[in-house]
Amino acid sequence: MIVALAGGVGGARLAHGLARALPPDSLSVIVNTGDDFDHYGLRVCPDLDTVMYTLAGLANEATGWGLAGDTDAARGMLRRYGEDAWFWLGDRDMATSLLRTRRLRAGRPLSQVTAELAAALGVTATLLPMSDTPVATIVSTSAGPLTFQEYFVRRRHQDAVLDVRLEGVESATAAAAALAALAQAEAVIICPSNPLLSVRPVLSVGGMRAAVMGAKSAGAPVVAVSPIIGGRTVKGPAAGNLEAQGFAASPLGVARWYGDLLDGLALDHADAALAPEIAALGVRPLVTDILMRDAADRERLAREVLDFAGMLRGARP
Ligand code: GDP
Ligand code: CA
Repeated sequence: MIVALAGGVGGARLAHGLARALPPDSLSVIVNTGDDFDHYGLRVCPDLDTVMYTLAGLANEATGWGLAGDTDAARGMLRRYGEDAWFWLGDRDMATSLLRTRRLRAGRPLSQVTAELAAALGVTATLLPMSDTPVATIVSTSAGPLTFQEYFVRRRHQDAVLDVRLEGVESATAAAAALAALAQAEAVIICPSNPLLSVRPVLSVGGMRAAVMGAKSAGAPVVAVSPIIGGRTVKGPAAGNLEAQGFAASPLGVARWYGDLLDGLALDHADAALAPEIAALGVRPLVTDILMRDAADRERLAREVLDFAGMLRGARP
């Protein structure tokens, strides 16, 4: 079993490559649910849906999130009623949240509902929410405390992030299926998702970090792909978020951020000069092309990362 940890767009891109590179039933993707929120009574899970649509081949390739060809009529109607409706939730995308909400209200856990939705869309990888218990990422910014979607979507991540609080994390344990997948992991891949806003929530739910460390001590290498290339994020605020936390906006900062969790880190040719410093931290660098422009890029990078992980596993005493 290969286990990937993912947020939204960056995570979905690599997860898609992994799904193409691996046989069916050998990939589990553990996804951030800290961005989840209630919207007009609907339970919206942005990162789970981004990964699900991407793996199903239904994602809007231009945005990275949402469904290709989706329309915006429901939101237009909300606006006619005078609603601000700043969160873009397309008409078809809304159907996913409608169904999820109904099934959750019937008492099913999010992991089961997610499995049902993903299977119906033909996703063969196992898609797992980090926890069945809701956890909400609250961002403390220069403009005050904001819910994740207020910070990210409404205010377009323009505010400096001072700190992040995970509401409900104390009582949230890792989804049982996520722990089971990690117990069988041959490698753990940390996707190029936002280290602070996407990956930290995943690692913060009860038992998750310990399970990753357990997989690591059982011989499964933990390999991350840098979300930072040449000092910049491909998309979103990860560079500024790392700097605000006192880490460099570079693969070296990413290596330091993950610390003793990592065995290896894939970084871009643009950052090759940092490879010796990364190696000096005890993290094996893999210098390659880590920008995923299309499906072929995703699969190529996924294969390189899997080969690299296999090599690290083989090198273990
Ligand atoms: P979000 O929920 O959509 O913000 O999702 P993520 O946290 O998964 O994705 C945002 C991160 O993905 C950003 O930090 C980007 O730099 C990174 N990212 C997006 N596309 C790519 C890519 O093609 N290659 C790499 N290495 N990182 C990427
Ligand atoms: Ca997200």
